[in-house]
Amino acid sequence: MLSIHNLHAGYGKVEVLHGISLEVPKGRVVTLIGSNGAGKTTTMRAISGMIAPKQGEVTLGGRNVTGLEPYKIAKLGLAHSPEGRRVFATMTVTDNLLLGAFPRFTGSRPKGDIQSDLERAMELFPRLKERRNQLAGTLSGGEQQMLAMARAVMLNPDVVLLDEPSMGLAPILVQEVFRIIQQLRDRGVTMLLVEQFAAAALAVADYGYVLENGRITVHGEASKLRDDPAVQAAYLGGS
Ligand code: ATP
Repeated sequence: MLSIHNLHAGYGKVEVLHGISLEVPKGRVVTLIGSNGAGKTTTMRAISGMIAPKQGEVTLGGRNVTGLEPYKIAKLGLAHSPEGRRVFATMTVTDNLLLGAFPRFTGSRPKGDIQSDLERAMELFPRLKERRNQLAGTLSGGEQQMLAMARAVMLNPDVVLLDEPSMGLAPILVQEVFRIIQQLRDRGVTMLLVEQFAAAALAVADYGYVLENGRITVHGEASKLRDDPAVQAAYLGGS
C-alpha cells in the first residue's frame, strides 16, 4: 500500500535520512522505532509531502507520490496525524472532524457517508463525543491530540501516519490511545506508527523497523523484534 525506496531527506543542506526503504502492506500496522533525533518524524514528513525528499521514491497504492504537495497526497488517500497538537483552535470538535473529511470532496476517491463516519469517529473517541460542540482550543492537551488523530481517520484514508499519538499524555490516556489504535487495526486500517512506547507499539504492530541515525538497521516481524536482545536493550528498557 505504502512503499518507500531509498529515501533521502533533511532540512536545508543537512541530510537526516540517508536512504531508507520500508513497506507498509494493506491492512497492516508497521512501527518505526528509534531514539530521539533518529529521523522518525522526518520520515513521516517526507512521506506526506511536508518536506520534499532529496532522492528516492514514495509510492502510495502503486502510484508515485514523491515530492507532491501534502494536500495532493491527502487527496490520494494518505492521512498524517502529526506530532503535537495541531487542531483548529477556534473551531468546534465536530467542525475539526468535518475538515478532516474535506479532501474527500476534492479528489476522485469515494466520498462515502460523512455523517456516519462522524458518528463512528465519535464512538471510537468517546471523549470527543462528549465535547463535540466545544471549541478545540479549550480541550485539554490530551484531548487535542486525540482530535488530531480522529481528524486523520475522518479522511477515510488508505494509510494513516500516526506520529507519537501518546506524546505528553497521562498514563490513562496513553492506554486509551493504544486501545483506539487496536480498534483501528481491527477495522483493517493501514498504519505507520511512531511511538515513544516501543514495547506497546510492537505489541500492536505486525512489523517493525529500527531507525538509527537516518538508516534502517534492523527490521522484522514485531514479535521477533520484541524478542531481539539488542532491540530490548536499546529500546525496550531491557525488558
Ligand atoms: P524524536 O523522537 O525526538 O521526535 P525523531 O526520530 O522524530 O526524534 P526527527 O524529528 O525526525 O527525529 O529529527 C531528526 C533530525 O532532524 C534531528 O537532528 C533534528 O534536530 C533535525 N530536525 C528536525 N526538524 C528540523 C527542522 N525543521 N529544521 C532543521 N532540522 C530539523
